[in-house]
Amino acid sequence: MTEGIRVVLATHNAHKVEELRRILGSPLGSIELIGYDGPEPVEDGDTFAANALIKARAAAAHTGLPAIADDSGISVGALDGAPGIHSARYAGTRDSGDNVRLLLANLDGIADRSAQFDCAAAAVIPQQGGDAIEHVEVAAWPGVVLDAPTGDGGFGYDPVFRPDGEDRSAAQLSPAEKDAISHRTQAFTALLPWLTAQLGA
Ligand code: IMP
Repeated sequence: MTEGIRVVLATHNAHKVEELRRILGSPLGSIELIGYDGPEPVEDGDTFAANALIKARAAAAHTGLPAIADDSGISVGALDGAPGIHSARYAGTRDSGDNVRLLLANLDGIADRSAQFDCAAAAVIPQQGGDAIEHVEVAAWPGVVLDAPTGDGGFGYDPVFRPDGEDRSAAQLSPAEKDAISHRTQAFTALLPWLTAQLGA
């Protein structure tokens, strides 16, 4: 059996691993995605792109293998882009329910509820005897924040996000429907051609 080219997926978030395996599953060619359980770096970048690169660099340095990572979140116009890169710990915990409650409280009485899910997808490929080569793609999925959580699917802010052109929340979409249009799909779909070309996969 021919061995695939191993690429580390630099996330400890089980929901993301599941989504990314679904999204990237078929067009991966000879790339074999493997999990990462090494140290998690401090994500102290100012942008989704900077933080995605920090995660991919850490996994590539730890394993010596090519690594991909994402950084994502929800950005709300009326809140000057918050929670943005702080989405995962907006309420000070990693609890999605707390984050959603705080977001709804901060938007109480505000008419303009436009928002977007953002995703940066980064790839870092170590080079023998030289600097690693890197690439990052960013994408946005526009919509609005609902008044109350609706739907049981998805994760994070999905129950309070209604994508533009939809009458359901992201938590009411099937996984396949979300995968067809999500910020994460768009960013990784844009990243993949660069990765496969660099790896000759
Ligand atoms: P990260 O793991 O640092 O990228 O944090 C991303 C956080 O943004 C997650 O914990 C969620 O709260 C939120 N988020 C990102 N993508 C999605 C999505 O597709 N649906 C719902 N919430 C998301």
